Amino acid sequence: MTSAKPQISLYNTLTRRKEPFVPIDAENVRMYVCGPTVYDFAHIGNARPVIVFDVLFRLLRHVYGESHVTYARNITDVDDKINARAVRDFPDLPLNEAIRKVTETTADQFMADVAALGCLPPTHQPRATDFVLPRADGKPDMVSLISTLIAKSNAYEANGEVLFDVKSMPDYGQLSGRNLEDNLAGARIAVDAHKKNPADFVLWKQSSAEEPGWDSPWGRGRPGWHIECSAMSAAYLGNFFDIHGGGLDLIFPHHENEIAQSRCAHGTEVMANVWMHNGFLQVEGQKMSKSLGNFVTINELFDSWGGPVLRLNMLKTHYRQPIDWTQAGLKETGREISRWLDVVQDVQNEQVSEEFVSAIADELNFSEAIKLLRQYFSTSEYASLRAGMLFLGLSTERGSDQGKKHRTAFLETGYVGGPSIEALIEERLQALQAKDFGKADELRRQAESRGWTLMDSKDSSTGERVTKWEIKR
Ligand code: AMP
Ligand code: ZN
Repeated sequence: MTSAKPQISLYNTLTRRKEPFVPIDAENVRMYVCGPTVYDFAHIGNARPVIVFDVLFRLLRHVYGESHVTYARNITDVDDKINARAVRDFPDLPLNEAIRKVTETTADQFMADVAALGCLPPTHQPRATDFVLPRADGKPDMVSLISTLIAKSNAYEANGEVLFDVKSMPDYGQLSGRNLEDNLAGARIAVDAHKKNPADFVLWKQSSAEEPGWDSPWGRGRPGWHIECSAMSAAYLGNFFDIHGGGLDLIFPHHENEIAQSRCAHGTEVMANVWMHNGFLQVEGQKMSKSLGNFVTINELFDSWGGPVLRLNMLKTHYRQPIDWTQAGLKETGREISRWLDVVQDVQNEQVSEEFVSAIADELNFSEAIKLLRQYFSTSEYASLRAGMLFLGLSTERGSDQGKKHRTAFLETGYVGGPSIEALIEERLQALQAKDFGKADELRRQAESRGWTLMDSKDSSTGERVTKWEIKR
């Protein structure tokens, strides 16, 4: 790695400029990306930061050496949405067990999904629940960080909560460009009467007996969302590091508040030097949402598409621009990659070209990189095409149906995040008994959309309705 290293340049949300990337320590380049909240299947929008920062991870490894890059991406396994899911899906289990079932299944599903999309596992994938209380290995944890913030007068206890005091940080709001007056204007004072300032945010909150909780100096409770990333990034990357990433929606409040917590606790000028945010993905011109019915999980896309098609389709748009995810686009990408796969089967492995690396090093200019791949295809430079595809994490294996295989494996367990197939069947049988046929149809549709087909028959001895399920073909 001595000869001309390509100069990486990155757009920094903090400075609102594209800048040359200079690592704090070229022997250990450090990146943190906010990971998923594990209560349900990840949707295709969630795949965007994972893919974008995977390409950056690959670029950094190429430039600085594989063993000189540390990438941490957390798993958020404490969240009120998770509790609600656990109670709904496993009403008969003790809450802790139910929560573990939801989070472990969903986290496994997520990792299998993104592996099938060609993403390397990050160096560390810490789970929030392992970093709530002080640890045997002495790594930073949330309770200790909160205690430090209280000791430094950056946080205070009120009404059973611990709150961060935004007024204690003179330059709060730098990342999002929001100042405290903006925040004040939008806040509902009445609800937040116990706060010194309406913009103060929660570090720790009380848990009722039905909610998961940990014993802390402030009673039994659970952490706020932002503090987990301050603890886990410090645990694996130190008090400040090179790159912090996530989707655009995280700039405020999540990243702003991570910065406030980390900088005040550690007394640093920055939390990370470069802040990067991917744009949002929408589906067929509309915001993806459950109520619009256009909510697409990564997992169900594997029914129709291989991982490389989905990945290339994601990379066709600049990472900061919005993507419109369409069937037509997927078809076009599918045709294109299949032509490439035809020609790269029997070619030798070759070093990726300098011009290709430079394209990606220029603020992750994927479009330019893909233009080069098209050029290699049309000029029959198939070894360069293959090397470029591999650099982008696009598998060159023919008929790679890894995604489909792992989807089937999950469906066979009967539980894929959300109600188990047995629970859906039981609920539907009850609806049928109550002659609520509309609800019964809706539950059948839910099972179908999750990948299962239901088959009704009669028990020959009792004459009762029996419903069996199989994986939808
Ligand atoms: P969440 O599990 O909602 O916290 O999201 C995990 C990651 O996915 C975050 O980095 C989000 O910014 C990102 N994300 C969520 N929805 C989308 C979307 N529609 N397009 C792009 N990124 C998204
Ligand atoms: Zn985070």
